[in-house]
Amino acid sequence: MAMKYVFVTGGVASSLGKGIVAASLAKLLQARGLRVTIQKFDPYLNIDPGTLNPYEHGECYVTEDGAETDLDLGHYERFLGVHTSKANNVTTGKIYNTVITKEREGAYLGKTVQIVPHITDEIKRRMLLLGKTGRFDVVITEVGGTVGDMESQPFVEAMRQLQWEMAEEDFLSIHLTLIPYLKAAKELKTKPTQHSVQELQSAGVHPDIIVCRTEKELTPEIRRKIALFCNVKPGHVIQSIDSWSIYQVPLNMKAERLDDMVVAKLGLESLPEPDLDELKGFLYRLKHPKAEVDIALVGKYVELQDAYKSILESFVHAGAANECKIHVHTVHSEHVDAENVEEVLGQMDGILVAPGFGERGLEGKVTAIRFARERRIPFFGICLGMQMAVVEFARDVLGLKDAASTEACPNTTNPVIDLMEDQKTTTVKGGTMRLGAYTCHLEPDTLAWRIYGTDEISERHRHRYEFNNAYLERMEAAGLKVSGRNPDTGLVEIMELPSHPFFIAVQFHPELKSTPERPQPIFIAFVEAAMDHRAGRGMKK
Ligand code: GLN
Repeated sequence: MAMKYVFVTGGVASSLGKGIVAASLAKLLQARGLRVTIQKFDPYLNIDPGTLNPYEHGECYVTEDGAETDLDLGHYERFLGVHTSKANNVTTGKIYNTVITKEREGAYLGKTVQIVPHITDEIKRRMLLLGKTGRFDVVITEVGGTVGDMESQPFVEAMRQLQWEMAEEDFLSIHLTLIPYLKAAKELKTKPTQHSVQELQSAGVHPDIIVCRTEKELTPEIRRKIALFCNVKPGHVIQSIDSWSIYQVPLNMKAERLDDMVVAKLGLESLPEPDLDELKGFLYRLKHPKAEVDIALVGKYVELQDAYKSILESFVHAGAANECKIHVHTVHSEHVDAENVEEVLGQMDGILVAPGFGERGLEGKVTAIRFARERRIPFFGICLGMQMAVVEFARDVLGLKDAASTEACPNTTNPVIDLMEDQKTTTVKGGTMRLGAYTCHLEPDTLAWRIYGTDEISERHRHRYEFNNAYLERMEAAGLKVSGRNPDTGLVEIMELPSHPFFIAVQFHPELKSTPERPQPIFIAFVEAAMDHRAGRGMKK
């Protein structure tokens, strides 16, 4: 079978959920037995989003092979349960970097280097790269940005060339637009969609399917009108209506027959109907919780929900697994202090201290951790959350009052969290952290070992600082237990407090591997502990 390529572009507005539509289609095709991957092409000039402020672009998602990528790759992995890699996220910055490096090496033999053909050739090469690995039947490419943006033009031109080069049945283009509803006129408006499709067509790309984001049902008349004016087949205009859960979208797309249209155009009609039972089971549990808990997410990027996307999704998965509705309360770490901590966190059934960078909000995190430790509230620390749990323990239990991470206090006399030797000489910021999957050995008979039910795990990292092993003996003598270690370097990856009902903190990012069908074990156990804590509190009342 020839490789099949599906392209998803967006128009009218950004944030329409192109990633979710692409991932939903991928899910449906996968459930019909195809091997599918999704890649994202982003039009900005950063080489990767690793150096972007989470306020700008949301969470930075890290792949197994250590690429810092767009958060949409998180959706791809959660929907498909298949790992992505460096090759799945390409930016304009990467494209130009390759072309300019080649130019400096003299690879263009004196030719004038131009957007067409040199940049577009490099875009096409990367668009086809995953398809050449033999690992997939279908590659879905999401083109970031909005059609008509100056920045997206080379991507659309590369798509046009591929459409021209490929056999009709190997190429499919989906355009996602917005159909706004005008309350005063009580009408859905199609004009912005018509203009957006015209824009795409004037660049030479003809969409096969138009997916319309809408708050209200599209009538058959509206669908017909869009089809006629946009020159697509009747029936090839479908709706993506606002949904109660992103995981419902594959089923909505199925109801709109998106996968049927795609397999028909790609000549794959003989495939069986998709098997979506596992997803349906998950959605049923999500919709019918039997308990509820309140969990605080303490971090400093709380204004933008996308900054903690994978953590929030992990709670959705772990909630469904426990048939428990989780109310996540985001708490700004800069607004927590010894005075108000009781008021802010006193009613919580669990406290999660989030990853982060820099100095701001650190003391609030330490305060929240102390509260969880002393009040015996289930605690889960991730990355910076673990580092601050170590700082808190060192200060309060070991009595090292100035214990700190050298990230915040480079001159502290007690650097309980410090840079590794190889990081001390690193000056370049992009792509130089400890990134990607590392093995971790679990200590038998610890909480972590019971949670995972195995001796060896692999989780993904993204950090520069580490537990300083010079303090290990003193910490363990005082009651801190190191339950997970990197077998090659001896670095501390998990710490816990056995005297506490549930206190666990990890240097890695467990949230990156949680999926609806395979919820992350620590999140499941943390929610369970929160449910127990709530039940205990209820009994005391
Ligand atoms: N800032 C810390 C470090 O670089 C923690 C990073 C994180 O939480 N992802 O080590």
